[in-house]
Amino acid sequence: MECPTPEELVTEFRKRLIEWGRANYEEWPWRKDRTPYKVLIAELLLKRTTRQAVGREYNKFIEKFPDIESIYRASFEEVRDAFRPLGLYNQRAKQLKEVARAVVEQYGGEIPDDIDRLKSLPGVADYIAGAVMSFGFGKPAIIPDANVIRVLARVTGIERWSSRGKLKLYAVLEKLLPEDGHEDFNYALLDLGGTVCRYDRPRCFKCPLRDLCVMGHNDEEMKQCLRRLYKKLGKRDSVHTKVKEQNKR
Ligand code: SF4
Repeated sequence: MECPTPEELVTEFRKRLIEWGRANYEEWPWRKDRTPYKVLIAELLLKRTTRQAVGREYNKFIEKFPDIESIYRASFEEVRDAFRPLGLYNQRAKQLKEVARAVVEQYGGEIPDDIDRLKSLPGVADYIAGAVMSFGFGKPAIIPDANVIRVLARVTGIERWSSRGKLKLYAVLEKLLPEDGHEDFNYALLDLGGTVCRYDRPRCFKCPLRDLCVMGHNDEEMKQCLRRLYKKLGKRDSVHTKVKEQNKR
């Protein structure tokens, strides 16, 4: 493969990731019948908890608390008891009660469809806000959770530990994200980070992005080319503003 143009790289990256994602799609209860509320709850439950553990409790939780009002009206003890099987129950219940209070009292009981307002909710970081936008509202938004940022850092060769590095990775992600098919793209990236580009041992031999990846490629010249291209994509410009504007609509 010759050194591609940035446009070719973006197109190829999306195509390969989405195809892989569709073929390896993971069924989880929170991926069915999605609403902004259900996505928000799933993401809050998934904080510091495995998907397997949340998978066992998610439907019971949604049955007991079908909407944000039901959490708002419930006592702290009721919410805490529903969290017991997942651990960290005092902390989670406190946070969820605070989120419910903010949504009901500040936003009239509607989960806001705006990234900045979502991020104003207690404990809602960039990646939870992005998941609610993309999976809940169907609007293009990046989901920069720890796994996704790790994958992107390996793919681009951009370090992920400084805030400068992180901003560059966000910018790359925003440019890679397609407007159509952003849900498939986001699911695929999350699943790739969980199964192939794993924290402890990336399985590059199974990866659809291998020859688009600085870490995975085995040709030094191509590595340099990819590094340059991703560096270019990491510059913040109007594309970032465009995605932000889309999120607000
Ligand atoms: S090629 Fe390897 S390092 Fe790169 S994204 Fe795939 S698994 Fe991760």
